Amino acid sequence: MKTNERQHYWLPVPDRTGFQWNRHAFRGKHWDGRPSDTSVCGVPCAMAKPSELDWFQAPTCRDCTEALIVEQSGTGISENGK
Ligand SMILES: [Zn+2]
Repeated sequence: MKTNERQHYWLPVPDRTGFQWNRHAFRGKHWDGRPSDTSVCGVPCAMAKPSELDWFQAPTCRDCTEALIVEQSGTGISENGK
């Protein structure tokens, strides 16, 4: 049996422009206050404490969603078109 090594949490983060926010998934139990991290979909993100409005407005990242679905379905298929 596996432990919960694949835990993740969601956090709204601004993109490079700082105007558009997206809700990405990150590895770990919860955000520990770090200033940046790489999302599940591989995007380096600057992190900040989101307001309730950010949670409300930020759309969920599709790439993160799909990556997590693939993981949890256990297929292990990785076709990223290298
Ligand atoms: Zn993402």
